Amino acid sequence: MSFNLKNYNTFGLDVSAKDGIVLSDMAMFPLVEKKITENNNKFIVLGQGSDVLFKENYNGLVIINKLLGMDFTEDQDYYYVTCQSGEYFHDLIKACMARKIYGLENLAFIPGTAGAAPIQNVGAYGVSFADFCRFVEVIDLQEQKIKRFKCAECNFGYRTSIFKEDNNKVRYIVTSIGLKIPKKYEYHISYGAFQGKEFHSPIELYDFIGNIRNQKLPNPKEIGNAGSFFKNPIITKENFMKF
Ligand SMILES: Cc1cc2nc3c(=O)[nH]c(=O)nc-3n(C[C@H](O)[C@H](O)[C@H](O)COP(=O)(O)OP(=O)(O)OC[C@H]3O[C@@H](n4cnc5c(N)ncnc54)[C@H](O)[C@@H]3O)c2cc1C
Repeated sequence: MSFNLKNYNTFGLDVSAKDGIVLSDMAMFPLVEKKITENNNKFIVLGQGSDVLFKENYNGLVIINKLLGMDFTEDQDYYYVTCQSGEYFHDLIKACMARKIYGLENLAFIPGTAGAAPIQNVGAYGVSFADFCRFVEVIDLQEQKIKRFKCAECNFGYRTSIFKEDNNKVRYIVTSIGLKIPKKYEYHISYGAFQGKEFHSPIELYDFIGNIRNQKLPNPKEIGNAGSFFKNPIITKENFMKF
């Protein structure tokens, strides 16, 4: 059996996996686990495939995440958003904005699924996923149960998290994320790109970010890519002063 991955990687590479399954319902998990065993535990979860580069055909199981659904609640000070991991992260931001829940705009237009967002703690323009994370829910394949990590337990750092650790890549499948968004809106515009700019609404900020992102990276539908390949270097103040 072979599972074509051309539509599941933003490079659009015409590669295949030995086996594949589209996960669209939590009730499918016994079947997913059966397939993982059949493939000798060699598997990878893919959302939109916007952060992967296949050098060759994949000799294992690919689990395509299509778990969908969003839920919005609130209290006096915060909005609480729960999102199934197969939703596109940008769609989640648009769904928040449609409900006048603002705060995530700096993260708009990042390709990929909500479930992949905590993996590398996606970030852009001075804001990262961790800033709004309340929890990350996973299937723990080792302990065979659903587990909820509070934000502080995810070890988020600059483009990293506990889920990137080698052992955990084959242990946890992210099934949903929970966000906590303050009702008291704050602009996050200290990043260089915003210098000298004034914004009169979060929507204006969202549009501005859309424009600069369009200029920086090609749309993967036109030219295959996976965004930036580098991390901004972190250097000492002493070295910084030399420049
Ligand atoms: C044009 C472009 C611009 C980009 N801009 C940014 C940016 O500004 N900031 C930024 O941080 N990133 C950026 N990226 C990278 C990418 O958008 C993010 O890394 C995104 O989170 C990947 O989501 P995905 O669903 O495509 O993940 P995939 O590429 O499908 O998977 C990425 C990794 O996460 C794992 N994974 C995915 N889903 C799950 C899950 N449910 N459970 C467990 N593991 C999982 C996969 O196994 C893989 O190791 C950009 C990419 C492109 C193509």
